[in-house]
Amino acid sequence: MTPDPRASKLCLSCGREITWRKKWAANWEQVRYCSERCRRAPPSDSGVALESTILALLENRARGASICPSEAARAVFDAAQWRREMENTRRAARRLVAAGKLEIIQNGHVVDLSRAKGPIRLRLR
Ligand SMILES: [Zn+2]
Repeated sequence: MTPDPRASKLCLSCGREITWRKKWAANWEQVRYCSERCRRAPPSDSGVALESTILALLENRARGASICPSEAARAVFDAAQWRREMENTRRAARRLVAAGKLEIIQNGHVVDLSRAKGPIRLRLR
């Protein structure tokens, strides 16, 4: 069985779901990013550092434990910087979700970070 060409995929930059569009009918398999903005701004060095920090923090906790994304941001950036990097941190978390390594928790339930509003926590999948 061939995979559904319109099956959703996740952006390699921001980790958000890419919505199929008619203009991609011919090259959907090659689409990697949700937008021009994401295509021009693939994950930065700090974004990659955030991904590994999130995983390292979680691997050092008890099984099933979760962390707040700000813990990773504070581990990578200094005190003056980390608050400005929270969207960068969320993007890193979404990429890890896309890679099947992480899940996003809100009020004890797994949620979609594209839609989640308010505080979230991260947990290994
Ligand atoms: Zn994107």
